[in-house]
Amino acid sequence: MKTLRKPFILDVEPKQLYSVLKPLVVEEYRIKQIIEWLYVKKVSSFEKFSNLPKDVRGNLESSFYVRSFQNVIKQESILDGTIRYTFKTYDSHYVYAVYLPTESTKSVCISTQIGCPVSCNFCSSGKIKFVRDLSRGEILEQIIHIENDRNERVSGVLFMGMGEPFLNYNNLTSAIESIISKNELNIGKRHITVSSVGIIPAIKNLANAMYGVRFALSLHATDDKQRKKIIPNNFDSKISELLKTCKYYLKKTNSRVTIEYVLLKGFNDTSSDAHRLARLMRTARLIEPSVQVNLIPYNHANKNDYQAPEQVTVLTFKKILKLNGINVNIREAKGLDIGAACGQLGYTAK
Ligand code: SF4
Repeated sequence: MKTLRKPFILDVEPKQLYSVLKPLVVEEYRIKQIIEWLYVKKVSSFEKFSNLPKDVRGNLESSFYVRSFQNVIKQESILDGTIRYTFKTYDSHYVYAVYLPTESTKSVCISTQIGCPVSCNFCSSGKIKFVRDLSRGEILEQIIHIENDRNERVSGVLFMGMGEPFLNYNNLTSAIESIISKNELNIGKRHITVSSVGIIPAIKNLANAMYGVRFALSLHATDDKQRKKIIPNNFDSKISELLKTCKYYLKKTNSRVTIEYVLLKGFNDTSSDAHRLARLMRTARLIEPSVQVNLIPYNHANKNDYQAPEQVTVLTFKKILKLNGINVNIREAKGLDIGAACGQLGYTAK
């Protein structure tokens, strides 16, 4: 595998910079200034770290990269202002992130891996062969690049792009620490959502780490056999156990949990599915204000056979959940014309 000739400075956790930079930077207060340039001012060239002496800037320049992506393709939706960013990594792979603006929020949906080993068969990212995990710096660079490009602060981060975040747990949590740190990206923990198909020990670890971020379970089915058909690599997690673990997450973090449910025509969109989902949630004591079900009518992605359900089917599904006391929302597709909606990210940009 091709490697970077120099280390990427965002891969080094700020707390480690104090020891890593010691040979290059004599005064400790300079490290604080460097952290501020990297994470608060988000400047992309050491040359512009203007309050540092010239020799320190030169030392940094010859020892580290400040950015790792080589090239960025930007596509903007004419439908809703969503922007899809395709980043080319140093080893010539593609990583995708999406900027999702509303009147009051500016969220980004980012990736944690190149390709996805989970291979959900309704998702185009699942069709991309897994190459490697993204580093902590590559995860953060997606956010930093978008903030600089938009010249505005991002208000929320969704770990819902390409990859299964829990398969890259250490880099995920290291990035989360920088995202929520007041001295770094400073984005509120309640505005961060980690989405996963559910690896039970990892959900518990995230709960126990007490970051207080939100968790979203990609459930998408109401019985284990049905789920295995669309999520073949489901880590042998049983639906009942996953939902119990969501309850654990809620209790431990006092945060919120979302149950993501993609509606596939004729597969998991019947009234019986809706009633079964409600029963499962009741059994797991998940019918409460801090839990929401997000219904995601399937968005067409290349190379698979699924179809979106009729609108009446979606509304009936929603109504059944609502009558059972469940908070439920139909997720509006964003960036459909640029392949940026849920499940579409894996189109290869040229
Ligand atoms: S839905 Fe998520 S876990 Fe499944 S293949 Fe797509 S990116 Fe991977």
